[in-house]
Order: sequence, then structure tokens, then C-alpha cells
Amino acid sequence: MRITSRRKAIAFFLTLGVGLAAVAVAVGMGWVILNWREGVKVFLGVVFFGAIIAGIILNTIFLIREIRRNEQHDSFINAVTHELKTPITSIRLYLQTLQRRDVDEARRKEFYRLMLDDADRLLVTVDQVLRAGKAGHKRAELLRSNFDFADLVQDCVTAARTSHHLEPESLRFERTANGSAARVLGDPEELRAAVSNVIENAIKYSGEKVDVAVRVELPDDEHILLSVRDQGVGIPTHELKRIFKRFYRVPNRALSNVKGTGLGLFIVRAIAKKHGGRVFAESPGEGHGTTVVMELPRSAV
Ligand code: ADP
Repeated sequence: MRITSRRKAIAFFLTLGVGLAAVAVAVGMGWVILNWREGVKVFLGVVFFGAIIAGIILNTIFLIREIRRNEQHDSFINAVTHELKTPITSIRLYLQTLQRRDVDEARRKEFYRLMLDDADRLLVTVDQVLRAGKAGHKRAELLRSNFDFADLVQDCVTAARTSHHLEPESLRFERTANGSAARVLGDPEELRAAVSNVIENAIKYSGEKVDVAVRVELPDDEHILLSVRDQGVGIPTHELKRIFKRFYRVPNRALSNVKGTGLGLFIVRAIAKKHGGRVFAESPGEGHGTTVVMELPRSAV
């Protein structure tokens, strides 16, 4: 309901803007034709009408962008509320069961495990929101140390295998050079968050069958490339850039039950940029998998 009314508002303002611009162009042209012989007046008229038309167009673009941003804010708040509420509700339920009933040892252990999983999920969401806040501050301090990036990626892969109960063939790791050369100067915690985010996405958007390949390559003396390739839902070409925007989530996905906040890749991009690197996504199209590539500058020692 809300979305359709927004769509109507966008359509209305777009029509109004285009209509006003068209009227301004028509009035301007008519005026130019009528006053053709009076050079200075015509010149000034053209300049003023040009300015008015440009103003109307800018105003319309601004309005529509603001309406869109508002829309994304709303869906972000819904997503975060959901991501916070679901694990809390679930933990509460387990605690109530433990409190009210006599639960045998095996089930009690299982409940503890599930509650821990829920607590982890809560932590990830809170961490993402905090990191997204930090990503907005361009001057935020980076703790820099010199470390082996390939080792860090391997740790992230191992952690993801454990938490998603994946076999090594479903989530593969490859490094194409000896570890000592893949060094970066940077903040290991930030980079770990970025790498984990990309790997988690690859698993999340794979659907039932997870087939993910993580590679660390050294294409030249100055760069390190991390690529995470999955065979999942893929991304339409026109969305490949937008997915790095804050709060942006691709609408009408094949896996519409996959939850998220739209902050992950925004954080990944901010972290890559702070380290002097970049990140981009490639996909042959919907249903054909995705590769996310992060490029970082290499450190000498
Ligand atoms: P989210 O919390 O929604 O996962 P992200 O910022 O991590 O937010 O990703 C933004 C959007 O990009 C996602 O909603 C999803 O539609 C798309 N996306 C990210 N990674 C992948 C992937 N590996 N395969 C397909 N789509 C992806």
C-alpha cells in the first residue's frame, strides 16, 4: 500500500517536473520567435529560460532521489527490526522452555547451542549497524599493521565453513602464491569484517546448493586480488553498481526470504577504499552466479 502510494508520488512529481519543463521550453521558444529581431533581449531571455528549465529539472531529480532514499530508509528500518527481533524472540522462547519444563541434558545442550547462534546473529546485525555508522566518517582512524592477507582470508573461510556446516568442497579456498608475498598494510579487524561479509553473501545468495570458490591472487607486484565466486541467484547487470550503496537491496529476488540490512557491501566498499583499494561485482546475469572482487594495494614486507 505504502509502496504504491510512493510510486504514485514519484510518478506525479516526475510528470509535474517534465510538464513544467515542457511549458517553460514552449514559452521560451515562443518568446524567442516573437522577439527574434531584438538581439540582446533574445539573448538574455534564452539565458534566463535556460536557467529556469535547468532549475526545474534539477528540482525534479532531487525530489525523486529523496523519495527513493526515504523508501530505502523505511525498508532498512523494517529489516533491522526484523533482524533484531527474531533472535531475541527465539532466545526468549528457549529460556522460557528451560525455566518451565524439565528438559533432559541433550536437549538443554541443543538449546544452548541454538541460543548462542541467535546471540551471534544479533551481534552481527549490531556490528553491521555500528560499522556502517563508522563508514560514514571519512577521517576515522585505521589501526594499521602489516600482515598476511591470504591467512586472514583462510581464517574467514574456515569460520564460515564451521558456522554454516559446509564441506570444504562447497566452500573452497585457493591461494595462487606463497603466503609471504600476499601482505597488506591495514586494519586486520576491518578487513576481516569485509572479507567475511563477502563470503557470507556468497553463501546466503547461493540458495540450497552452496558452491563457492574463494581465491587470493597476486596479479602484479602492487596488488592483491580477492575473488569470491558463487553459483547462486546472480545479479542483473544494471544492479551491479547499486548494490554497494547504503541500504540498497536488489528488489524481487529469486530468494526473497533471504534477510539482510543492505549495509554489508556498503561497509565492504568503505573498508576497501580506506585501504586504498576497491571492490566490484561481476555477474553473467540472474541465475548465473556472482563474483565479487576486492583489490588491495600490496605491502612490501
Ligand atoms: P544484504 O544485507 O541485503 O545482504 P548487502 O549490502 O550485503 O546487503 O548486499 C546488497 C544486495 O546485493 C543484496 O540485497 C543482494 O540482493 C545483492 N547481493 C550481494 N551479494 C550477492 C551475491 N553473492 N549474489 C547475489 N546477490 C548478491
